[in-house]
Amino acid sequence: MSRPRRTPTPLLRFLGAAGTVTGSRFLLETPHARVLVDCGLFQGLKQLRLRNWEPFPVDPKTIDAVVLTHAHVDHCGYLPALARAGFKGPIWATPGTRALCGIVLPDSGHLQEEDANYANRHGYSKHRPAKPLYTEQDAVRVLRQFRALGFGERTEVAKQVQATFSPAGHILGAASALLELGGTRVLVSGDLGRASHPILCPPAPPPETDFVLIESTYGDRRHEEAPLEDHFAEALVRTAERGGCAVVPSFAVDRTEVVLHVLRRLRAAGRIPPMPVYVDSPMALEALRVYRRAIEEHAPDVRLEFHGDGDPFDPGDLTEARSVEESKEISLERGPAVIISASGMATGGRVLHHLARCLPDPRNSVLLVGFQVEGTRGRALADGAPAVKMLGRYVPVRAEVVNLPNFSAHADQQELVDWLAASPRPPQMTFTVHGEVAAAAALRDAITARLRWPVATPRDLEVVRLD
Ligand code: ZN
Repeated sequence: MSRPRRTPTPLLRFLGAAGTVTGSRFLLETPHARVLVDCGLFQGLKQLRLRNWEPFPVDPKTIDAVVLTHAHVDHCGYLPALARAGFKGPIWATPGTRALCGIVLPDSGHLQEEDANYANRHGYSKHRPAKPLYTEQDAVRVLRQFRALGFGERTEVAKQVQATFSPAGHILGAASALLELGGTRVLVSGDLGRASHPILCPPAPPPETDFVLIESTYGDRRHEEAPLEDHFAEALVRTAERGGCAVVPSFAVDRTEVVLHVLRRLRAAGRIPPMPVYVDSPMALEALRVYRRAIEEHAPDVRLEFHGDGDPFDPGDLTEARSVEESKEISLERGPAVIISASGMATGGRVLHHLARCLPDPRNSVLLVGFQVEGTRGRALADGAPAVKMLGRYVPVRAEVVNLPNFSAHADQQELVDWLAASPRPPQMTFTVHGEVAAAAALRDAITARLRWPVATPRDLEVVRLD
C-alpha cells in the first residue's frame, strides 16, 4: 500500500531587497509553478548596480508569472531584461500600475541606452562597444505581457497560485499582494504609503495570512507629527525672501503630483508668495496625465476629487517644460521660483542642470521630498556634503538644503507596525525586507517589542521553506 504523498512545501527565495532598499524580487516556488513578486532594478551604490548585470539567479524561462506591486523602477525596472532572457509569462498588475509602467519602463530603457552611448563616447566601459542592459524597444515589448488585475479581484496567476491585490497607498495603483499557494498564504506588503497622502487612500489593512514580507525603508525612523506642508512652506518663504530658486528633485511619479497639489493648497491659503512653478521632466508630465485621468475616472485608490474649482495640480503659475528648449529657458529664471525636476535622487536627468546652476548660490534652496538611497547625489546633499560631483565637475553646495522626510511616500516605523497590528491574526512568520540593514533590523526589533510576533530579516539570496 502506498503512503499518501505529502504536498511538497512551497519555497520563498529572496533575490533582492534583502539588506538593501532596492532590487525587489521575491520568488515563490511550488511543485507546479514559479511566481516572481516584483522584478526591480538595483539602484544606488555601484556594487549594487553591478548586480543588474549578473545573470538572473534562476532561469527566467522557468518563471511562470510575475506579480507586480507598483511602478517604481526598483520594483519593475528589471522586467525588460527578464523578458529578454526568456521570460514569456504574464505580468499581473493593477490598471494604475500598468498605465504608469507604460511611462516608466520605456524611459528606463532610454536611460540604459544613453548610459551605454555615454560609456562608448568616453571609452570607460569594459565591454566594447558597451551595450545597454535593455533598450527602449525591449521595454515597449514587455508591456504586451501585462495583464490587468483590479484591487480585490482574486485570480489564478499561475497553476494553483492565486493572487489578490489590496491598495497600499504609496503611488497610484500601488498594491500589497496576497499569494495563495495551496494551503499557504503569503502577503507581500509592497511599499506602504502614509495615511496623510493628499491624493491617495490610506493603505488597506492586511488580509489574513501565514507569512508576511514587510518593507522597512523608514523602519528606523519616525516622521514628525507636523502636517507635511509646514516645513515645505517655511523653506519656500525663506527662499522667496532671498529672491532665490527652490529646486525640488522629484520622482517623476507621485512626488511631482503631491508637490504640485501641496503648492496649490499653500498658495490658496496665502502661506507662500505667488511665484512661477516649473515642472521640467517629460516623464513627470506624462505621469501627471495618468493621475489626472485616474481622478476623473474615480480610480478606487484615489481620494482626491475634482470639484470644478480648477486643476488640483496647478498652483497658479505652472509652466510645463517638455522640450529641451523649454528646459533651457528655465535657466534664465533668477527667482523667486520653484523648479521641480527629475530624477528624485539626482542620479541623472534634467535636475542635474538646475542643481549645477543653483547649488553654488546661497539665495537658492534644494528641497528633498523623497527617500535618498545610499550612494546617490541626493543622499550626499541630505548628509551635508560641501560639494557634489555632477556633469563631470565638482559643484560647491552653498544653497540651503532642506530635508523633508514628512513628504515621503513611505510609512514610518510606527505606521508600519500599526499596519501589521491590524492583521486579523498574527502570521506564522514576518520578514522585514526593502530597507538598509539598520532600518530592516530596527523594524524587526520594533515588531518583536510591540507585537511579540516571530520576525526575521532575511539575507540576500536566502531560501526559506514556507511550512
Ligand atoms: Zn516604491
